[in-house]
Amino acid sequence: MFNLILFGPPGAGKGTQAIKIAEKYNWKHVSTGDILRSEVANQTPLGLEVKAVMESGQLVSDDLLVKIMESVFTNSPGVGGFVLDGFPRTVKQAQELAVMLEKIGYPVSLVLALNVNEQELVNRLLKRAQEQGRKDDTEEVITNRLVQYHHHTKPLIDFYHKVGVYEEVFGEGSVDDIFTKLTRVIDRKKNL
Ligand code: AMP
Repeated sequence: MFNLILFGPPGAGKGTQAIKIAEKYNWKHVSTGDILRSEVANQTPLGLEVKAVMESGQLVSDDLLVKIMESVFTNSPGVGGFVLDGFPRTVKQAQELAVMLEKIGYPVSLVLALNVNEQELVNRLLKRAQEQGRKDDTEEVITNRLVQYHHHTKPLIDFYHKVGVYEEVFGEGSVDDIFTKLTRVIDRKKNL
């Protein structure tokens, strides 16, 4: 089983690339942002609990995310691989993920980061705000989401670097060119 974490700040293009990767390798795409947005849209108890936090650009609690991911892993028998998009986002989540994967018997295979400069990220997020009208894509919330990334998520680079599974790809240019670069790294890792 191949466990890929697609890593990067908001606006780096993780969602777009994760869908393409999952399709190519027949792996399961897991976007915690999508899962949470669907809970909010369906007004489930979980959705009602996280709505305000998400709309402010803050991170949802580690405990909730771990519960969500536990249920994803339990409900995915026979899956050949996972593309995790948006999880883990804190060191605590990464530690909990290691415990969950140990139960399945397959560790994180690769953490692949999309490297995009900050101004480009803001431009992309503002554009997405116009196109998709996501409530967390206003300028103020975008700034907050980037602050959360720097504060809570960026330390994972060092965490996974030490584990020996961290790699980076330049995430600017055409979607197809970036996809080609990503699959080159994945194929190299798969064939090890
Ligand atoms: P995303 O679509 O991945 O940018 O996620 C949208 C929002 O969902 C984030 O700004 C957080 O509020 C919440 N979220 C998604 N994944 C996580 C996570 N792993 N930890 C905490 N909050 C998360």
